[in-house]
Amino acid sequence: MQFLHILAGIRISHSRSFCRRSEEIRMPRSVLHNAILLDPERPDFSMTPSAISIRNGRIERVGALNTDASAIPESAKETCMERLLELREREQKDGRDRAKESQKSVGSEKVEWTDLQGGYLAPGFLDLHDHGGLVFAAAKDLAASLHASCAHLVQEGVTAFLPTTVTSSQARLEEIFEALVPVLESNASERKPSSHVVHNGNLAVPLGLHLEGPWIHAACAGAQPKAAIRNYDAAQGEAIFSRFGNWIRMVTLAPEVKGAELLLETLAERGILAALGHSQASAKQAEAAIELGARHVTHLFNAMKPLHHRDPGLLGVALSDDRLSCDLICDGVHLDSRVVRLAALVKRERLVLITDRIEVPKMRDPNLAREGEGFGAVHDDGTALRLSDGRLAGSSLSMNRAFRNAQSFGALSLLEAVAACTLRPARVLGIEAERGTFREGARADFVVLDAEGEVLQTWIAGKQVFRRTGKTK
Ligand SMILES: [Zn+2]
Repeated sequence: MQFLHILAGIRISHSRSFCRRSEEIRMPRSVLHNAILLDPERPDFSMTPSAISIRNGRIERVGALNTDASAIPESAKETCMERLLELREREQKDGRDRAKESQKSVGSEKVEWTDLQGGYLAPGFLDLHDHGGLVFAAAKDLAASLHASCAHLVQEGVTAFLPTTVTSSQARLEEIFEALVPVLESNASERKPSSHVVHNGNLAVPLGLHLEGPWIHAACAGAQPKAAIRNYDAAQGEAIFSRFGNWIRMVTLAPEVKGAELLLETLAERGILAALGHSQASAKQAEAAIELGARHVTHLFNAMKPLHHRDPGLLGVALSDDRLSCDLICDGVHLDSRVVRLAALVKRERLVLITDRIEVPKMRDPNLAREGEGFGAVHDDGTALRLSDGRLAGSSLSMNRAFRNAQSFGALSLLEAVAACTLRPARVLGIEAERGTFREGARADFVVLDAEGEVLQTWIAGKQVFRRTGKTK
């Protein structure tokens, strides 16, 4: 019944808007088929060989192509999808080898068929916390650094992410915004749900900035530069939000810092996600922040007080309050695998995987000292990034690795891990109709995985932007 309903739906959307978009953009229609679907919203439908049709960079329909053609009602026979189905079945009968991509036309319409050869198809990964090269890049290199991250991330299955700043002086923050806003602007159409314009690059999409600090607690700084940690000052804050607020999607803050109430109100007014983290907050302070709109917790367990059974603090509230979603760093270093399992049991569909990835330049130029303000030398010990005193300083994790770790730790099932990297972070940002989903009309951003969970292909707006050629380790 669902299948028939989907077919009926296509006709409506096709006549209303897709044709007009087609004229505007002239993108070929494409069908990905022979994929094992990993749909975080329809577990019952997942794991079946499926096909997905794409028009103008958006999902038009998802269905099982092997459905008996006699099940298609007369009323749906004239739709494009029906003709595609017929074509597909004819070709199957002809026994043609469709292992390779080919072009076929249906009527006057060009259709590109791609056989995913039984690969797992999931929505593209979405990372809420990626510092990339922003921590150490000089001002003149910031835009290039973001661009490099966008190019790099598609290899790890990431199709959208939040470039994340660390605690920095006001001058450095403004320098970062000034350098990055033009890059974000060039992706602006990608941020608007109503946009008809498809992505025109081969890059992961930066959805807006995540500010991690500077309004955090120095006692829970982690590797955040202590010298730049400060209370929320309305004038300084306004200087940022009035100029750059449209480009900020998320702020991680400690609710106990002076001025945090005003900050939370400002974020709520502007529709920016308030996340709690790097904090010593008491349970009462955390709950007061929730009342003011905080809805998320950044890297659960890290940079916050441990749980005390009579003084639960932020961590106790994070674990016990369903209004809060929580993300965590699943690299096996920041958290013990048992703790990841505990978090998964407690937070269920509100647990999100992030990377907190930091790229460290191989040879640190001494001139970069100012830009890496207070961050000091960071080295990769092979498992994570550390400061010279051994403190953890961000991860060298990828979303793909986090996805696999969560399963190998016994914390998440395959479909739960897909959700934690796709649908759940999209929900945190309120963009789950657009991303992290196989819903009709959503962006056709996908990752194709092999049985081990390695990324084989990445697709953005219905276009293949990455394909693995050699075997990775
Ligand atoms: Zn971070």
